[in-house]
Amino acid sequence: MVPKNQSNTIDFDAAKLQRLGYASRAQQTLKPVSLVQLRQQLSLQLQTSLEVDRILGLFFKEVQRLVPLNNLSYQLIGGDLRLDLGERANHSAGYRLSHEGEYLGELIFRRNQRFSEDELGQLESLLGSLLFPLRNALLYRAALQTALRDPLTDTGNRIAMNQALQREVDLAKRNLQPLSVLMLDIDHFKRINDTHGHVTGDEVLKAVANALKKSLRNIDMVFRYGGEEFMVLLSNTNREAASMVGERLRMAVLELQYLIEGRAVDLSISLGCATLLAGESVDSLQRRADSALYVSKREGRNRLSMAG
Ligand code: GH3
Ligand code: MG
Ligand code: MG
Repeated sequence: MVPKNQSNTIDFDAAKLQRLGYASRAQQTLKPVSLVQLRQQLSLQLQTSLEVDRILGLFFKEVQRLVPLNNLSYQLIGGDLRLDLGERANHSAGYRLSHEGEYLGELIFRRNQRFSEDELGQLESLLGSLLFPLRNALLYRAALQTALRDPLTDTGNRIAMNQALQREVDLAKRNLQPLSVLMLDIDHFKRINDTHGHVTGDEVLKAVANALKKSLRNIDMVFRYGGEEFMVLLSNTNREAASMVGERLRMAVLELQYLIEGRAVDLSISLGCATLLAGESVDSLQRRADSALYVSKREGRNRLSMAG
C-alpha cells in the first residue's frame, strides 16, 4: 500500500524542460543568443506550462540572455493577479498586452540603465513569443476559478470547500494552530420560495451570502455546500473567537433589511460551530459542526450551537 500522504506526482513541466535541454538553468551561466534563436527557444519553452507565474518566471530569466533586466512586473487589471520578479529599478518600459484584441494584462520591464532603441525592439519581438502561452495560461486560470465558484452567490462551491477543508486541517495540524468551522442554514427558506417564487428565493440567497461576506475578514473562506447551506472556515481561530464570529454572522442576517414588494422579510440563520480536536479528521470535524447545526434547528432556530 502507498502511504496516503506520499506524493507520487510527476512534474511534467520539469520533465519536458529537461528533455528540451532547459534543466537546472539556475546553475548554468546563461549564454548569449541571437534574437531569432531566443524567440524559437522561448516559444518551445513557454508552451511547457499553463501557470502564469511559471511562464513569466521563465520569460524573465530567458529574456536576460539578450537584454539584461532587473525586474519584470505583471498585472492583470480586474483579474486579481499581480507578479513582481527581481528588484525594483529606475528605468522602465511598459506594455499593455493583448492577443487578437483580447486584453492580457500589463507588463513592465525595469532596470538601472536606460534601455536603447535596439533593446526595446528586441524586447517587443520577444513579447511576441509570450502572448500565446500567456493567453492559454489565463484561460486555464479562469476555467479553474470558475470550476470552484458558485455562480449564484459568488462563494466557493462544494469542490472548493472540500479542498480548503483538507488544506486547512493539514495546516492547522502542522502549525499547531486552532481551526474552527461554522456550518449554517437559512431558517424556513422553503417558505420564501413557496410564497414569493424561486427567482426571489435566489435573490434572497445572494443577499444572505453578501451579508455573510461583508461580516468576514477572509471572504475566500465562505462556501455554499448545499441549496441554502453555507460553511465558513476560520483558520487560526479558537472556539471562543469562532463563537463570536458565528454570533456576528447571525446578527448580520437578522438585521438584513431585505425588501420583497416593499416589505421587509424576516430572515435568520441557524449555525453550528466546531473547533478541530487533536488528531481529528476532516469528516469528524464536519460531522460535529453539522450536529451542532442540527441542535440549533431543533432548539428553535436563529441561534448558534457549539459542538461538544
Ligand atoms: P429549516 O429552517 O429547517 O432549514 O427550513 P427550510 O425550509 O430552510 O429547510 P428545507 O431544507 O426544508 O428547505 C430548503 C429549501 O431551500 C428547499 C428548496 O426549495 C430551497 N432551495 C435550495 N436550493 C435553492 C436555490 O438554489 N434557489 C432557491 N430559490 N431555493 C433553493
Ligand atoms: Mg437546508
Ligand atoms: Mg433551511
